[in-house]
Amino acid sequence: MVKSKRRLIRLSILLIFTILLLGVGFFLAGIIQKRNQTKIENLYFEDLTNKKEIGRLEAIDKVEKNIYYKVSYPLIGDKEIDKDVEENVDKLIRYNLDKYGKEGEVNYYYFIDYEAYIGVNYILSIVMNENFVSKDLKMIEDKTYVYLYDLNNGENLSKEDIFNGDYKDKIQEYLEDDKLDEDFNFVIKNDQLILIDYNISIPLLEIKDYLKIDLSGKKDYSNDNVEPVYTLINKQYQITEDTLLYENASMKSNVSTDIKKDTVVNVYSQSDKGWSVLLYDNKVLYIETKYLKEVKVETVDESSMVYAITDVNIRKEASTSSELLGVLKSGEGIKKLGEDGTWTKVLYNNEEAYIATSCLSPVKIKKREVKLNVPPQGNIDPNKPMVALSFDDGPNPVSTPMILDTLEKYNVRATFFDLGNLMKKYPDVVRREAQLGEVGTHSYAHKNLNNLSVQELNEDLRLSREAFKSVLGYEPILIRPPYGNANATVRALVDMPIINWDIDTLDWKYRNKDLILNEIDKYGNLDGRIILMHSIYKTTAEAVEILIPDLLDRGYQVVSISELATYKGYTLQTGTVYNNFK
Ligand code: ZN
Repeated sequence: MVKSKRRLIRLSILLIFTILLLGVGFFLAGIIQKRNQTKIENLYFEDLTNKKEIGRLEAIDKVEKNIYYKVSYPLIGDKEIDKDVEENVDKLIRYNLDKYGKEGEVNYYYFIDYEAYIGVNYILSIVMNENFVSKDLKMIEDKTYVYLYDLNNGENLSKEDIFNGDYKDKIQEYLEDDKLDEDFNFVIKNDQLILIDYNISIPLLEIKDYLKIDLSGKKDYSNDNVEPVYTLINKQYQITEDTLLYENASMKSNVSTDIKKDTVVNVYSQSDKGWSVLLYDNKVLYIETKYLKEVKVETVDESSMVYAITDVNIRKEASTSSELLGVLKSGEGIKKLGEDGTWTKVLYNNEEAYIATSCLSPVKIKKREVKLNVPPQGNIDPNKPMVALSFDDGPNPVSTPMILDTLEKYNVRATFFDLGNLMKKYPDVVRREAQLGEVGTHSYAHKNLNNLSVQELNEDLRLSREAFKSVLGYEPILIRPPYGNANATVRALVDMPIINWDIDTLDWKYRNKDLILNEIDKYGNLDGRIILMHSIYKTTAEAVEILIPDLLDRGYQVVSISELATYKGYTLQTGTVYNNFK
């Protein structure tokens, strides 16, 4: 009973098929600590989440016969393993195609999402969560497959390679009322054995007598049983004193090389145990954090920026007859390098270029008032409490329509901050969002806008505007930057009011409707507040089904952000950050 309940929760989590392709960027987590060095430099670490510790995400998105495939799996960077993974995926697809495939319209969806973990620094566990559902979202097949590999040689590991003796009896001791399944699924993550169907972690050290795998020498367990927590850094640091780089986050581990004072290195993550992970000579290595000093990365110096008053040509030389390099759009900023008569020398594409000084202003773009789009169906009483729901990261072809159905059912509105690249993929969903609520931009590709150059940022904004125009016929009025990040440059350049939030449901983390609702319950009065959710999770859509009637019962009007701002008497300005409209 307990197990089937857990299984149900698992199922609902598994049905989330939108893959977070959103460029987290290349970074290395400090999880792998020791491995055959020639291989480690080839391993892929990207788009890492808690459940995707390693691997480059590969996606299959196709229709074959009557089946729509949304499959994601990892490529690890090891030839043999990757070949095996691809063969396994292919097998799963073939199986369902043979069993259910027919010519005709799509009436099945086939989803695979994966998890990938590193255990004891050399065991790779890949979990494939499979869901085969009918068009009306009835579950037909759902299975979990786990594949284990030895990262030192790329070989497949079976239960027999991992366990020893009466291991089943030993594991059973941890299960209380549940009976251990004959073919139970497990992964090895760090120094834990995780029984995924039971949601139970067992420290490997506690069952070491029943294991064949090598726990010793891979990691300094004696040092501390608590896992170090690594935080993503991805910043440049300078070495403060001649010191050593280790192969492991331990001074007992092998020294890889020495490193000289003042060397600049890129640090990917740092642990709370005083170690930093960096890539040096193409190797993942460790340094004591105390030897690092942050290098001030060149940021846009506000005082050296100039802004176009009108669309203006960028020339190679200080002459109207010289080569045209590009156009600086009205309001856009560019780095000023100096002056040359009536010309301003600027940095364009990392090269010197010239713009007529008369077309430039040294002050930031003037803020301007924005006319909000308040739909007529609102019928809102400004004297009654109101709250705005906002949904980021979509559109998603399954969970977003579920949310829209709920909005429609209760005749309430919400704001969707969509990604340009997904808008173009699911235009019908976006148009329905606009019809039932409003759509703002969440950038084109979910990059951290603070880290983009002015040019990259403008390009992202341009692509977002283009997506809006092609799908909705107009440009976005509101922006929510990814992660809510908007530094001075971003604020100056977006030319939209920046709408953040003041209630974070943490729905991306919980993936559980009760926990999401619980989180909102922690806040008292919701009047004038903006609630952050994500339209890409089915669990969020399920929470919304409960949340909206509940809010209405409690006397709240559920409105779009534009409605909230307008009825609360705000006029919104470009380049300004708003967290609520109380
Ligand atoms: Zn986001």
